[in-house]
Amino acid sequence: LADSHFIGIDIGATLIKMGVVTREGALVSRDEARTDEINGPSHFVKIAGETFERLLVEAGVEKRAIGAVGIGAPGWVDHQRGIVHELTNIPDWRDFPLARKIEETLGLSVFVDNDANVMAVGEMLYGAGRGYKNFICLTLGTGVGGAIIIDGAIHRGANGLAGEVGHMSIDTQGRQCACGALGCLENYVGNRSIVARALELMGESPTGGSGSIIYEMAGGDPANITTKTIADAAAKGDAVALEVWRETGRRLGSAMAGLINLLDPECFVVGGGVAKAGPVLFDRMKEAMASLAMNKLGRSTPILEAELGEHAGLIGAATFAMLSSERD
Ligand SMILES: [Zn+2]
Repeated sequence: LADSHFIGIDIGATLIKMGVVTREGALVSRDEARTDEINGPSHFVKIAGETFERLLVEAGVEKRAIGAVGIGAPGWVDHQRGIVHELTNIPDWRDFPLARKIEETLGLSVFVDNDANVMAVGEMLYGAGRGYKNFICLTLGTGVGGAIIIDGAIHRGANGLAGEVGHMSIDTQGRQCACGALGCLENYVGNRSIVARALELMGESPTGGSGSIIYEMAGGDPANITTKTIADAAAKGDAVALEVWRETGRRLGSAMAGLINLLDPECFVVGGGVAKAGPVLFDRMKEAMASLAMNKLGRSTPILEAELGEHAGLIGAATFAMLSSERD
């Protein structure tokens, strides 16, 4: 059946995932490669070509059943021209015409966009964003990814740079961000910052006199502490963990209140590794948002947990390909 399946490619900092997704949003076959094993843009294209052939066989799908290919890439992407300007984790990647190169290799239409944008499209069709046409999607991980959906379409802005919620400054005298600015949100609520804050509150020694159970839960090795450890500790009532999530939720909720005042969305869809902390984070975000948004209707904007999970980027990229090919 023609156009019954779509290919998604999700370029992440550590893994590159590729998969075959049905028109109904089901992932039927997938594969992944380590990003640091890719030695340049041409190598990426070659690997994608080989993986594509293998995935079709595995899925038992013929090439003519594939409608289009969608790619989500981190950072600055020129969606119109199909160019990914920078991929810091792949050497020699600069202003690479990714859509055209993959098109030449696979013989299919290719659509490229920012990873947060394609994820939002996936959530809109098959996840927590079903039924919503105006919402903001946040992905909480090492950084904070953002995507703005307006009237059912991605809002890209004048230069394709819209949605960079992680780089909204929350402190003009704050921490130096990799982007060059000071006090960007993601330097406070990114997973590494959350762990660092917990360590700071615990102090130098294993228990730090703080009485926190976080060290113990990490097997006595600070290197094992993750946001999950801190979420588990919070569930057991650990004071340090609760304080870390209170601060994190407050900062995120404050940024969300600003977004509500600016865009008046129907809801937020929040995913990513840090969001797995669950209610201990979501409740704090809601409290902050509710106390800071201007209008009483804005204060009750729903904050929904993303539903597509670890393959959100992959399913989103394929869904994005489907929508883009049908729009053309
Ligand atoms: Zn920044």
